Amino acid sequence: MQKNLDVQLNLNVRGLGCSATLAINQLCRERELRGEQVYKLGLGQSPFPVPLSVVEALQANAWRKGYLDVHGLQELREAVAGYHNRRHGLSSAAQDVLVGPGSKELMFLLQLVYYGEVLIPTPAWVSYAPQASIIGRRIHFLHTTFEEGWRLTPEHLERACQEDPGRPRLLVLNYPDNPTGMTYTPDELRSLAQTARRFGVLVLSDEIYGELHFQGAHVSIARFYPEGTILSSGLSKWCGAGGWRLGTFTYPRDLAWLRQAMAAAASETYTTTSAPVQWAAVTAFEVGTDIERYLSVSRAFLRLLADEVQQRLNRAGARVTPCQGGFYSFPDLGDRRAALAARGITTSPELCTSLLQQTGVATLPGRDFGRSPEELSLRLAFVDFNGTWAMAQSDLEVTRVDAAFVREHAGRVLTALDRLADWVG
Ligand code: GLU
Repeated sequence: MQKNLDVQLNLNVRGLGCSATLAINQLCRERELRGEQVYKLGLGQSPFPVPLSVVEALQANAWRKGYLDVHGLQELREAVAGYHNRRHGLSSAAQDVLVGPGSKELMFLLQLVYYGEVLIPTPAWVSYAPQASIIGRRIHFLHTTFEEGWRLTPEHLERACQEDPGRPRLLVLNYPDNPTGMTYTPDELRSLAQTARRFGVLVLSDEIYGELHFQGAHVSIARFYPEGTILSSGLSKWCGAGGWRLGTFTYPRDLAWLRQAMAAAASETYTTTSAPVQWAAVTAFEVGTDIERYLSVSRAFLRLLADEVQQRLNRAGARVTPCQGGFYSFPDLGDRRAALAARGITTSPELCTSLLQQTGVATLPGRDFGRSPEELSLRLAFVDFNGTWAMAQSDLEVTRVDAAFVREHAGRVLTALDRLADWVG
């Protein structure tokens, strides 16, 4: 009896394991519990603390116990709309915003209620495709290349849309990008927007790393395609609050029907997002001067750290594009293929497994980001450092954050990269 139980699973879920990011985190925990050395470059979690003003807002609102409106707290919806209007020159209002328990859940609901083929440029974050598969949506991967800086080009998008141009489509765009760290220029976004508009493609723009653009110059594609872009954001990455689970979608006014359909689905599933967290998020999205300073320090720190990471990856003989925002790097060790094959390593999962076993450095294989397993790519999340200590030592003064400061505070990441380079070399 027992052995037949799995045939009763929904076909779309059968055989599905835990999400790669969460699985590597669990594996790291187990290694730590066994007392083994582990450098945690697997899960992409912000190392910085939640800004103090946001923590204080959470404390002050802990007593709020009632269910909130399924769309989200009115004050928060106003704060989110105001934030996007100031930051991205949009003209959204509170009514255009939907708040959810993490943008990941909102993305799932979107794919559930919107009937369309899902276009996913790869390398892509590990969960977009599994979400589409669970729901049973058709997926069209748009494989980008190292030579193109991992960017989706308008030509590529156009080729994908030319087959049956009237088909409803949802393009999942993510930048600064997880896993490559690339971002688009305003001109590139404008061109992508034109192509999306021409084919009536709905764009889900996952801009959760927007505030971590190293120059603080993130531009939303919603600026160029306001009528067709759903702008996704949240507290997890720039506000260090992944575990608080708060994400937001901001819709074009004409897509109110889509927002309402998602809210209906939400009302039958998660009901509403945690009330104290929503109240605290108001403070975050208002972005006071303390948070601006916190962001300046975060960006400077991550930019300098990305440089150090890049140098070590070059030493390892990896092909890697420069990281322009966020905390990921996506090296390709294809130039070391022969040497790795001699050690029995011919795929990215084998690469990451051996690397972890032999050096204690945890990473994720390019295969989990939609790449062919034979491509010897992997993702590093350069986050294994004490961001609380670094933030405190900076005193929120960006001028204190130089290369020496970063080397002092992110030593573990650099040791991990040195181990990787020595191991590959
Ligand atoms: N976005 C993070 C990552 O790519 C982790 C969160 C998640 O996957 O749910 O590592």
